Amino acid sequence: MAAMMRSAPRDREARHEHAPAGGARAEERYSPPEEAPPEPAMSSAERLRTLIEASPDPIFMKDGEGRWLEVNRAGLELFGLEGVDYQGKSEAELSAFTPFYRQALLFCPDTDRVAWDAGKLSRVEESVPRPDGSVRTYDVYKVPLFYPDGRRKGLVALGRDITDRRRAEEERDKLLEKEQAARAAAERAERRSAFLAETTRILSGTLDYEDTATRLAHLCVPFAADWCAVWTVDGHGGVHLGALAHVDPAREALAAPGSIRVEPDLPGGVSHVVRFGQPLLCPSVADTPEARLAALGTRDPSCEELVRTLGLSSYVAVPLVARGRTLGAITLARMPGSPSACAADLTLAEDLGHHAALALANARLYEESQEAIRARDEFLSIASHELRTPCTSLRLGIEALLRHARAGKLDRMPAPLIERLLETSDRQSKHLLHLIDRLLDVSRLEAGHLDLELEEVDLAALTREAAGELREESARMGGTLLVEAERPVRGMWDRARLRQVVTNLLGNALKYGAGKPVRVRASGDESQAWLCVEDRGIGIPEDRQPHIFERFERAVSSRHYGGLGLGLYIVRQIVEAHGGTIALASHPGEGSTFTVTLPKARAAVTARAS
Ligand code: ADP
Repeated sequence: MAAMMRSAPRDREARHEHAPAGGARAEERYSPPEEAPPEPAMSSAERLRTLIEASPDPIFMKDGEGRWLEVNRAGLELFGLEGVDYQGKSEAELSAFTPFYRQALLFCPDTDRVAWDAGKLSRVEESVPRPDGSVRTYDVYKVPLFYPDGRRKGLVALGRDITDRRRAEEERDKLLEKEQAARAAAERAERRSAFLAETTRILSGTLDYEDTATRLAHLCVPFAADWCAVWTVDGHGGVHLGALAHVDPAREALAAPGSIRVEPDLPGGVSHVVRFGQPLLCPSVADTPEARLAALGTRDPSCEELVRTLGLSSYVAVPLVARGRTLGAITLARMPGSPSACAADLTLAEDLGHHAALALANARLYEESQEAIRARDEFLSIASHELRTPCTSLRLGIEALLRHARAGKLDRMPAPLIERLLETSDRQSKHLLHLIDRLLDVSRLEAGHLDLELEEVDLAALTREAAGELREESARMGGTLLVEAERPVRGMWDRARLRQVVTNLLGNALKYGAGKPVRVRASGDESQAWLCVEDRGIGIPEDRQPHIFERFERAVSSRHYGGLGLGLYIVRQIVEAHGGTIALASHPGEGSTFTVTLPKARAAVTARAS
């Protein structure tokens, strides 16, 4: 400012020099301007005061006792002390003038102390709440001054308002955090899809059910779990351990496939998942044997040691469902010390479950189709054998007759021999027809055409007739046929088809009855009729019982018993077409009882092969 004042006279001279030349004014006599008397220079105190006052940053000067000596406007505004005679007062005294800023003021001596103790410039960040609810942040420099003998002389504090900068920094940090989170999420998503793609690739490499389960378990470890158990549904609807993989391969061997059966009625854990087809997240396994065992779907105390060895702190379990069918479940478990299973693990497990279930379903379909092909091949070989036997015996009779006829010796053949040959041919051709009829029935059922011709039929009379026809065969087998069908049991049924049912069940009872008495009973009430065929023969093994009503199913070797494995299949279709049911009770070595229940009145329906 002083420099500007001094340069003023030189300006005037310059203007004068550049005035236009010539004319009356140019001839005026030059008289130098009067020298202005020198103004007194600013004292250093004035300069300092001006500087301090002009600063937008609050500045405080205190004495060695912390009393305020000089404070600029920004400083007074900061604490709402404009107009207060602050000089010589401490913060404690000044706080009485400004109740709102009391706390902020009382905090100042604390940070002053830090500067005094440090003995040099120190920086501290201070936040001052404002009456409008906002908070302003200051980067405060504190400079302590000392006398040569070390006594405190004074302290200068200068605060720079960094609220906007802080806010910008915070926003930048938040953005950075968001960006980092987004990047981490994108990376996680990429790893997940790579994992799922790999899963599909590896699982599609096999059509073997067991192998699929094993591959699946190993795929999940360690990416999705510390150990993984795959549970599969067996042919009887039971669920057992299909495969187990562990980060420590030594622990894998502790649980062989099939070694753990999931108990269907457990309230939680894998049982729940399989029963209700619902996923489960267990972020922390309770410290009880029940909770630990639930992860393996069992109550078996001998599995406790296994869970302890595998290590379990949390897990997720999801059902494996494909095309509406539950094929099992998968458990992804974490060991103590690993991060807990969380919602993201559950989502991953569900995605994985969809892929895996499809792979398992394909493997199961493939196995079933292989089994169907095997059953069909076996059936073809049995059927050819069955058809060949009556044909052979028929041909033998015909050949004998033809030989004699060609030799012109037919009239010399003894009449009883001709009769026997013709009887055998008659029986074998009937048998042949019977076999062919069964085959035709099956193709009709397959095509969904089993039309019933309903009429009033007496089941009791029909049973007596069928038993009468089989009595000869029964006598030949050395058995007895006991018939309890005296009272009429009338209903609207297809006579020929019902006859087929009775004949089939009786025929089987004689065939598999081990020569022991066979009992058949026809009974009924107003609305239903029952046909019960009971033998004391070889019985049917328990594991075969659910299957003997299926096509081509046989529970005995074709070497010991002939048959196409179609009779019971056709019987069930006929019974169901009438709206009835057929039930079996059997014990191997003790015999079998088949009970048919039929409604007495029913409109004709067309049976559908199942
Ligand atoms: P098949 O022509 O082979 O007898 P079925 O369909 O009539 O065919 O019977 C299927 C299978 O059920 C038989 O192969 C046999 O193993 C079993 N079975 C049927 N009835 C009886 C029975 N009364 N006692 C024991 N096993 C039987």
